[in-house]
Amino acid sequence: MSRDDKRRRKRRQRTEENPKSVWIMMSAAVVLGVVIIAMVAQLVRLNRQGERLNTQTKTEASVDNSAENSKKAGESKKAKGTEAPQETQAPAVEHIRKDLDPDKPMVALTFDDGPYDRVTNRIVKVLAKNDSRATFFVVGNRVERYADTMKNAFNKGNQISTHTFDHGDLSKMKKKQIRRELTRAFRVMKKINGEEPTMLRPPYGNVNDKMRRTIKIPMIYWSVDTEDWASRNSKKILKKCKSISDGDIVLMHDLYPSTAGAVEKLVPKLRKKGFQLVTVEELFYYKGIDAEGGKVYFSGK
Ligand SMILES: [Zn+2]
Repeated sequence: MSRDDKRRRKRRQRTEENPKSVWIMMSAAVVLGVVIIAMVAQLVRLNRQGERLNTQTKTEASVDNSAENSKKAGESKKAKGTEAPQETQAPAVEHIRKDLDPDKPMVALTFDDGPYDRVTNRIVKVLAKNDSRATFFVVGNRVERYADTMKNAFNKGNQISTHTFDHGDLSKMKKKQIRRELTRAFRVMKKINGEEPTMLRPPYGNVNDKMRRTIKIPMIYWSVDTEDWASRNSKKILKKCKSISDGDIVLMHDLYPSTAGAVEKLVPKLRKKGFQLVTVEELFYYKGIDAEGGKVYFSGK
């Protein structure tokens, strides 16, 4: 083999080896590329995760803030007193039904001295069954004990108003005491129903000028007295209800099983006669009575 031949052979070998080394280098490059891409992808993923966590904390923080703010707003409202209206909280039910017939007779049954689960629940049940509503003037110091009963009556569209906190005789109290009785009653009712009462039934039916000047909501009397507390007899209660006519406000007490018994018969009876059983608010709305604070109302007539 000549020198030239050897050189040629080597060159050939090199050229033969070349494609192999090129292939190895390309493979290495591909592997490296894949590794780099995978690493970049992993970095991007981590970065995104970080961002998400960041926004999450931010949202949580803002939720916390708004909760804190509304809590503060509530507190300042409380601090301001009982007059601030509830603007943000929509009522669970329509307080005044708009589908009643103004040409058909209406009557407002009202119940004092409750709530009392054993009696109130029976009354609420028969009312609901007969597409009817009533007004409950509750005693504030009973409200927490019978919170579920009151809330149920409220959620079924009945009007829940106040009969003071301690059933005290407001006519014998000083202005400051009157305000205290009502503020306490308002507070406990708002805690459960989410809103304050808009009407008062004065205990013992006693009203004087001091009360008229001090009390900012209308005071509701009655035009039919069933004397249920005295008779405690369903038949006698029903007898007292025979005179009911359009616009009447009927006085009863949801403390006695005899009252519940009478109401269970009275409600379907009145419905059959064509009466619409309404809350005092509804009665005034349909009879065009714009009830004013500190004034006394006996009926919707
Ligand atoms: Zn009473």
